[in-house]
Amino acid sequence: RAKSEGGGVHHFFEKGMDRHAQRRRDMEIDLRHALANGEFELHYQPLVDLAQDRIVSFEALLRWKHPEKGMISPADFIPVAEDIGLIVPLGEWVLREACTQASAWPSDIKVAVNLSAAQFRSRNLTQAVFTALAQSGLSPLRLELEITESIFLADSEANLAILHQLREFGVRISMDDFGTGYSSLSYLRSFPFDKIKIDRSFVRDLAERPDCVAIIRAISGLGRSLNISTTAEGVETVDQLDWLRAEGCTEVQGFLFSAARPASEVSALLGKFGDHASKAA
Ligand code: C2E
Ligand code: MG
Ligand code: MG
Ligand code: MG
Repeated sequence: RAKSEGGGVHHFFEKGMDRHAQRRRDMEIDLRHALANGEFELHYQPLVDLAQDRIVSFEALLRWKHPEKGMISPADFIPVAEDIGLIVPLGEWVLREACTQASAWPSDIKVAVNLSAAQFRSRNLTQAVFTALAQSGLSPLRLELEITESIFLADSEANLAILHQLREFGVRISMDDFGTGYSSLSYLRSFPFDKIKIDRSFVRDLAERPDCVAIIRAISGLGRSLNISTTAEGVETVDQLDWLRAEGCTEVQGFLFSAARPASEVSALLGKFGDHASKAA
């Protein structure tokens, strides 16, 4: 009896695994065609500078419009794209598309592009960034590249060399999701980042949790003394905005202002938040 029960559990578990593996295989197959089929799109979310009270940049966020399944989140497909090696051509497409679209915006507005550690491993990243800038005519000063600490977990010497090369073009480098990793602090010593993006998890609990206030205060203080700007991610309420302003964060980004929107809506967002952004929110 015990054996058959065990078998039942095992069978159930296997079925679940099968479904998961099947979904994963389907996604791999669909992903391989998605780039050529033009199923990817970039949406743009504003970053608002608090001292200037206006939009200073837009973060490009990748969207996959699956022909049958609809919109699929980057959190779901980017890890798969990394595993099958698609992230390199896809990342190059993102760089080209973001630089081309940003070159049509007012010249004081920057664009931020997320990079995956796999793009660093490809050894083609500096060339891809250079090509995207050259083909679009976008000034390197208007391009911000967002990296996470994952690039320091392996090949950190080689990856640091790449970061330094990128910086020599004049491109800005931001540390994304700051505070979520093991030793975010030590990475600030290994590279002169231009911007720290404080992870959304600290902002979310600001009102209820004094420890989150203390952490945000410490990070923005650190930014001030190291001359690095600090962007708070995931700002959803006026309350959070007031806290972040009081703690001296330099920029905010979140649904309070806008979620990521299609490129066609960038000029409307600039009209709404291009000036006196916090009053409009
Ligand atoms: P991220 O770079 O930290 O981007 C911020 C994420 O937070 C975005 O999710 C954004 O839509 C979401 N967000 C912004 N404001 C708010 C808010 O007020 N509340 C809440 N709840 N969420 C907010 P998204 O677009 O789903 O992207 C998820 C992650 O996927 C990104 O995190 C980034 O790591 C990755 N990603 C997106 N586009 C690309 C890309 O082109 N290349 C690479 N390598 N990764 C990308
Ligand atoms: Mg980002
Ligand atoms: Mg982030
Ligand atoms: Mg993130």
